[in-house]
Amino acid sequence: MKVTDHITNAKGKTLFSFEIVPPVKGRNIQELYNNIDPLMEFNPPFIDVTTSREETIYIAKEGLLDRRTTRMRPGTVGICASIQHKYNVDTVPHVLCGGFTKEETEYMLVDCHYLGIQNVMALRGDARSEQKYFEPTDGGHPFAINLVKQIQDLNCGKYLHETIESEYSSEFCIGVAGYPEKHLESPSLQSDLKRLKEKVDAGADYVVTQMFFDNKKYFEFVEAAKNIGITVPIIPGIKPIAVKRHMQLLPQVFRIDLPQDLIEAIDGCATNKDIRKVGIEWAIQQSKELKDAGVPVLHYYSMGKSDNIKAIAEALF
Ligand code: FAD
Repeated sequence: MKVTDHITNAKGKTLFSFEIVPPVKGRNIQELYNNIDPLMEFNPPFIDVTTSREETIYIAKEGLLDRRTTRMRPGTVGICASIQHKYNVDTVPHVLCGGFTKEETEYMLVDCHYLGIQNVMALRGDARSEQKYFEPTDGGHPFAINLVKQIQDLNCGKYLHETIESEYSSEFCIGVAGYPEKHLESPSLQSDLKRLKEKVDAGADYVVTQMFFDNKKYFEFVEAAKNIGITVPIIPGIKPIAVKRHMQLLPQVFRIDLPQDLIEAIDGCATNKDIRKVGIEWAIQQSKELKDAGVPVLHYYSMGKSDNIKAIAEALF
């Protein structure tokens, strides 16, 4: 079922969902199941599975460093299919511009359609680690909006190359990313919101936000989005702080602010176990306020661990 249908059917009740990251190449899918199992009692109607773009790695070979390009966490579509089959829950594979040609994207979407996957999240992806700015892949898209248009074209039965006759008709429900504290490359929140509106006008059915730690930022973002005519559901993305390193990493990588109260609470922790508790408690308070405000879904970034998400869900669902 489509994410938007799940929201409509919930009739105002806040749903629980989460995002998982495929295991590193060579590891086992059982790892994922072990993280998903404890969360299924909270009835997530859908689970997101991220996609990683290719990365440059260096391998020592006969005294020289050999440069290779590889995808470290492959398998998003296969993982989605396997989760749908095992748990009877909808999945949302993330589809990226970066690292994929339009043809590869089309193959991926056709595979999703065969496998009964009805939702996709359309994202641009970040620059590769050795790049300063995002550079489109040869034959790929420069922005998420172009991906949204490609998915919409396919929904209308329009292949990239009209060489085969087909009765193909997908109806992908399309999610896109939104940034309550603006995307890091955007000159202003207002200009970023205009870009979001363009994605919605191009066919995006719902928005999932970047993580934020101050609900005020989300509420203001939703209000500003409404004011420029964005009427699709805006799902808040929540990430519980889990280790001290997050205090530097999250603001640096995602350009988000951490509230002073949260910084002080973490600074007062002696161990990572204490930090994890503070992170869980903060996320519970955030989630309670968002739920009271009637958000359609609370969507959690699990980053490969589910014990903290379970603790949060137990307090709320
Ligand atoms: P876009 O919407 O294309 O926007 C990128 C930037 O370009 C913004 O600054 C925007 O304002 C600007 N812009 C947009 N359109 C135009 C235009 N026409 N002309 C000029 N400027 C424009 N990354 C992954 O690699 N894998 C994942 O699985 C993944 N999942 C994510 C899930 C969520 C919920 C979120 C919020 C992010 C996720 N990301 C993921 C990260 C995402 O790929 C990055 O944040 C990326 O830098 C931007 O992606 P986007 O889809 O928002 O890009």
